Amino acid sequence: MNEPLSINRRNFVKTSAAALAATAAGPLSLPAAEKTAARKTIGIQVGAVSFADEGTDAVLDNLQERGAVNTIFLTTFTYGRGLSGRQIPGHPFPDHGKQASDESFFHGGNYATPHPEFYRNTVLKSVHAPDLGDLDIVSTVLPAAKKRGMKLFCSIEDVFRSDLPGVKEVAEVDLQGRRTGTLCLFHPDVRAFWTGLAADLCSSYDIDGILFFNERNGPLLNALGASHAQNIASSRVTCFCEYHQKAARAAGIDFERTREGYTKLDQFVQAALKDQRPTDGYFVEFWRLLVEYPEIMAWDRLFDQGKHQVLAEVKATVKSIRANLQVGFHIEHVNSFNPIFRATRRYDELAQKADFLKVVVYNNCGGERYAHFINNVGSTVFRDVPKEELMRFNNHLLNYGNEAALDELGRIGLSPDYVARETKRALDGVKGKCRILPGIDIGIPTGKNSRKASPDDTYAATKAALAAGADGVIFSRKYSEMELANLSAAGRAAKEFLG
Ligand SMILES: [Zn+2]
Repeated sequence: MNEPLSINRRNFVKTSAAALAATAAGPLSLPAAEKTAARKTIGIQVGAVSFADEGTDAVLDNLQERGAVNTIFLTTFTYGRGLSGRQIPGHPFPDHGKQASDESFFHGGNYATPHPEFYRNTVLKSVHAPDLGDLDIVSTVLPAAKKRGMKLFCSIEDVFRSDLPGVKEVAEVDLQGRRTGTLCLFHPDVRAFWTGLAADLCSSYDIDGILFFNERNGPLLNALGASHAQNIASSRVTCFCEYHQKAARAAGIDFERTREGYTKLDQFVQAALKDQRPTDGYFVEFWRLLVEYPEIMAWDRLFDQGKHQVLAEVKATVKSIRANLQVGFHIEHVNSFNPIFRATRRYDELAQKADFLKVVVYNNCGGERYAHFINNVGSTVFRDVPKEELMRFNNHLLNYGNEAALDELGRIGLSPDYVARETKRALDGVKGKCRILPGIDIGIPTGKNSRKASPDDTYAATKAALAAGADGVIFSRKYSEMELANLSAAGRAAKEFLG
């Protein structure tokens, strides 16, 4: 990759010169309040369609004036609707942007310009997203953001479509031996894709860094449906492909025993859903499976290793391009309400892999998501426990305060106290080794009877995160689903806090 290196050097010189100029201008002479403000990141996630629909400067005006935003997390690569596209079909449009569904043309992909030399070692040739014609969203927004002194990070997300060239060849294999629509993180082509994409974006554009999203779970949690957004799919767990088998052999994990263990776990889950109680009870039977088949846990751990290996490779690639580029990871919502998942994530370890962590503390949609998690684990492993009691018990495990009852969680949501506690836990966990930027829920779509964002609680959540000591916040998930009054309320909290 000779070409990118020459670009790197140019960027490096440019950046160094800018750093020198900044020093000469004397940031030390800033008043104390401004220095504090300068250190805090007030970020927002925005997809390409918002700039295309509303105009670059009009969007940036809103973000700066209403939201006090100083950093853009620009959705640059994904096939998912959570970060990209207009409002999700079936939910009302916010009070800005085009009031029409993009279902007929939404596709996803790379909203910047892919440079083929970065994708030589992968069958996944990054494809320019066709949704918005020839638009290159990074070269469109970056100069305008820079002119305003705003930082810009490219958000990239591990969400693909199964109809893309190359996807079938590198897709995961499930317990039954079927190819799936998710990509295997041990496959060399997949690893080369992520490092290629990160290198492309960081070499081709003078951005501030990358925010990497990967919300995928390992097979144990997937078998139990132990996340917020998923159903229980115990026979579809992944990955059992040849690259996983190779990694397992290197780690001394027996493949046949693993398959046997997951087959028994599948039988346990399916029996539980049919209300067929094991003689010794649901929890004991589950725990016995883990004891008799330690391979179940080992295989789940292997998935995490694959995922974290990719994160580490992306960070190393980015840093080799320019040492001052920042790499952040999105830490998914399940980390805040699933103690089994939480046990697999050490903040002190994550801190070594990233410059900052975007910790999801979405409190509006958090209510229905937490309820969904309790209902799922309460249908299998903890089926013998009344669900309200299970939730109270879980609240103690998680150090939650006085949250709503299970049947009201969706309507009431989680509290600003939850935002503060999860922020504090992350800060205590990383011990100053990386920055913590809680993701604040602004209008993430929820079910018909579930809580919707309001200015008051958006203000309260933003304030709670900053008052807990966060290094900033990231307004989430995408500008195209946020009401302007809610963005203004979040901005008001940021302005008040920063002075
Ligand atoms: Zn695999």
